[in-house]
Amino acid sequence: MSKKVLKTSPEGRLCQFPKCTRLLSIYNHQEYCRMHLEQMAQAAKPKPNGFSAR
Ligand SMILES: [Zn+2]
Repeated sequence: MSKKVLKTSPEGRLCQFPKCTRLLSIYNHQEYCRMHLEQMAQAAKPKPNGFSAR
């Protein structure tokens, strides 16, 4: 039988974003803090008016 193991990341990791010194939660398995993850997710989205360029 497999136990349910709660996966946590090492404690004391810092956000990998340049100049960001935010400490990441052990439950956050990403390399960036929540703020920068959101920021990058938004930057990756195509701009609303970006489709007309052809
Ligand atoms: Zn950050």
